[in-house]
Amino acid sequence: MNYGFAIDTRSCIGCHACSTACKSENAVPLGVSRTWVKVTEVGVYPDTRRNFQVTRCNHCSDAPCVKICPVSAMYNRDDGIVEFDPEVCIGCKGCMQACPYDAIYIDPETQTAAKCHFCAHRIEVGQEPACVTVCPTHAILAGDLDDPASEISRVVSSNSVTVRKPEQGTGPKLFYIDGHDISLHPTALDHDVAGLMFTEAPRAAPAYTDQVAEAGEMMADGPIRVAPGRMAEHMAQVAYRARSVVPWHWQVPAYMVTKGIGAGVFALLALGSLFGWWVVSARDVVWIGGIGLLAQVATVGLLLADLERADRFLNLILRPQFKSWIARAVFILIGMSVATGSWWLAELLTYVQVVDLTWLRLPLAGVTLPMTALGASYTAFLFAQCEGRDLWQSPLMPLHLLVQAIVAGAATWLAIAPLGFEGPAATLLIGALVVDAVAILGELGTSHASELASRAARDITSGPWSATFWIGAILVGHVIALLLALGGPIGGVLGGLAALAGLYAYEHVFVMAPQHLPNS
Ligand code: SF4
Repeated sequence: MNYGFAIDTRSCIGCHACSTACKSENAVPLGVSRTWVKVTEVGVYPDTRRNFQVTRCNHCSDAPCVKICPVSAMYNRDDGIVEFDPEVCIGCKGCMQACPYDAIYIDPETQTAAKCHFCAHRIEVGQEPACVTVCPTHAILAGDLDDPASEISRVVSSNSVTVRKPEQGTGPKLFYIDGHDISLHPTALDHDVAGLMFTEAPRAAPAYTDQVAEAGEMMADGPIRVAPGRMAEHMAQVAYRARSVVPWHWQVPAYMVTKGIGAGVFALLALGSLFGWWVVSARDVVWIGGIGLLAQVATVGLLLADLERADRFLNLILRPQFKSWIARAVFILIGMSVATGSWWLAELLTYVQVVDLTWLRLPLAGVTLPMTALGASYTAFLFAQCEGRDLWQSPLMPLHLLVQAIVAGAATWLAIAPLGFEGPAATLLIGALVVDAVAILGELGTSHASELASRAARDITSGPWSATFWIGAILVGHVIALLLALGGPIGGVLGGLAALAGLYAYEHVFVMAPQHLPNS
C-alpha cells in the first residue's frame, strides 16, 4: 500500500470546497490551513487565464520532515501516509524548515506541528479523504499508487504529470495533471500582497510575506488594489495563497553566537594546553572557561525559548530519533558540557588549592577539543537537514562554523584581557576575522546550486537584509573589530565586543533571509 494524491487542474474550478471540508473534518483552527487552493493569473485583459492549484503535504516517499523530527512526531506509516503525533511534538519547528513545500504549520491551539495527514482516520475505516469526497468535479484523486488497477495509478500513468520541486529529491506523491509552471514554482512570481485577490493594501508596503495578512484576511486600512489597471500591468501574478511564516526567530541566531562562545573559548584553551602555542593557566580556564560555561547555559536557554512546547523538552532525551541532527545536537551539547565542565571543575579545584589536579589538564583538554569542534560545527548538519532553506545547504558551513567559534572565543577572551588575561586573543581574533571574511565571501558570493539559495544570498548582500549585513556583520563585525583589536587593551575590549555584535548580525541575516522566501 502506498497512498498518494493526483490533482487534475483541468477540472478544478477553485471552489475551495476541499479547503473547507479539510478544516471541518480535522477541526483546523482559523489562520492555518492543511490544504489550500493557490490561485495565479496570467495574461493581459481580456486574454487572461486563472490557474487553480490544490496545495498540501505531498506525503513524500523520502520525507525530510520525518528525518529531521527529533522525537518521531512526524513519521511514515506503512501505507505511505506521512502522519504526525501532536502528543509528542515539542514544537521545535524543524519539520517546517525541512519541508520544501510550506506544508506544515504550528497549530495555534496545541502549539504543535500539523499538516494534511491524508485523513488517515477516514482511510482506516474505508473512506476517502474529506477533500476527495467533497470535490464536485472529481479533481482530487486519492489511492494506492502501488496498485496498477487503482484509478490513481491509471490516471498518473496515462497522463503527463508534474510534482512540485522534483529537484529536492523528496519523492512527492502528489501529482498534478496539467500543472502550471507559475503555480508549481513558488518563486516564479513575486508574492505581492497588494495584488492578491481579496486583500486590501497594508498601511506601509510590506517587505516580506509573513508580515502581511493571509490572502482573504482584511487589513486595517488602505485602498483595495485589485483593479483592471493592475491586471494589465502584471502579466502574471499570484492572486491567492496561504500565509508563509517564519518558524525560527532571533533566539536561533543568538544561540549560534552563544554556542560559538561556549565552544570557542574552550577550543582556544585546549589548543594552548595541548600544543603549547600559548600559555594557559588554571586561572585562565576558571575565568575565561567560566564565561564559556555561562554561554553554554544561555545556549540551552535560547533553544528552549524557541520551542513551542518547551514543557516537553525531556522528549528530546527520552525518545530521540537519531537520524535527526536536532536529536544528535542535544547529545553533542550534553557531551560538550560534560567535557568542558569537568575540565573547568578540575582547574577550579587546582586554582583554589583544594587539590592539585594539574595532571588532568592534558587528558581533559584532549577530550574537550574534539567535543568543542563537534559542538561548534554540528549546526551545519542540522541546517543541511532543513531542505526548505537552500542557502543553508552550503558545503562550506561546517568549516565556517569552526572559524566563527574561534572568532567568538577570541573575541570573548580579548574583551576581558585587561582584567589580567593577556594572551593570544588579539592575534587570533584578527586572523580568524580575515578567514571568516573569506568564508562569508564563499558562502554568499559564489554561485549557488539553486535559485532559492541565490535569491537568499542576494537578499542578504543587496536586498532587504543588506543594511544589517554590510553595517552590522561587515563594517562593525569585521572592519571596525579588526582595527580596534590592533589598538591596545581598551581597543581590544571594544574590538572583541564589536566582533561578537557582528557575528550576531551575520547569523541573523543568514538565519532569517532564507525563511522569508516562499516555498509554496
Ligand atoms: Fe509533507 Fe512536506 Fe513532509 Fe513532504 S516534507 S511529507 S510535503 S510535510
